[in-house]
Amino acid sequence: MYVVLQRKHVFVFLIAVLSAFGLLVGMSSVIGENKSDERLPAFAHSHKVGEYKIYLTFDDGPSPTTDKVLDVLKEHEIKGTFFVIGPEDNEPSIYNRIIDEGHSMGLHSFSHKTDIIYRTSQEYIEDFERLRDYIFKQTGTIPDFCRMVGGSNSRHCTKRTRQEIVNYFTKNGYKCYDWDIDPKDSGAYALSAVDIAQNIINEAQKMPDRDLVILLHDDKIRKTLPDALKIVIPYFIEQGYEFSTLSANTVLNGSSAAVN
Ligand SMILES: [Zn+2]
Repeated sequence: MYVVLQRKHVFVFLIAVLSAFGLLVGMSSVIGENKSDERLPAFAHSHKVGEYKIYLTFDDGPSPTTDKVLDVLKEHEIKGTFFVIGPEDNEPSIYNRIIDEGHSMGLHSFSHKTDIIYRTSQEYIEDFERLRDYIFKQTGTIPDFCRMVGGSNSRHCTKRTRQEIVNYFTKNGYKCYDWDIDPKDSGAYALSAVDIAQNIINEAQKMPDRDLVILLHDDKIRKTLPDALKIVIPYFIEQGYEFSTLSANTVLNGSSAAVN
């Protein structure tokens, strides 16, 4: 009981701080006008602790945002899953930090240039293998699971190309994952932390009795992501979820995120 009360207090405190911040910088009048319990309603029923799992997945990093995400995960003793891309303006050591701190790493895309990689399955696979080789050189490990750019139903990809790419994954032992919840955090501008958290919670309420794979982005634009995690993590702990990481062997309960 003591722990539960503590978490609730921390949660209310965080909402208060974020709301005050939103008012100060004029980012969102909505944050200031609504009470936190109206914005973040509880589930209609509670799960047993550990009955369902939640997987926080981070695409399109690493970037300077990733370091801050790793700090928040460490603070809450939570492990995440990072679907990484090739190096941009980040320190290469960030790939090692992800692995050294016990998180899970999956392959996404080296270039992430949808107009090029989706021209043919061959071009997609070449980009994918370029990333695989880079990750091996940088970390000494080769991830055995992945996420397609834009997901396996990307509008950039024809059905035939998609099938050829998925066949390649299956033949070469790569498990491919989509997601259950997309909080729409990947636009040209970062959503506010409260909006990211709210979008996740709203979607989660529509699918209460299953494992949940959450799509998030940790590229350099997503500066609000660490604060969103400070809301999302205590919330789902309170709801009885167990945080877990994806691997090639993950068996999902009720989730439709596995592609092959
Ligand atoms: Zn992506």
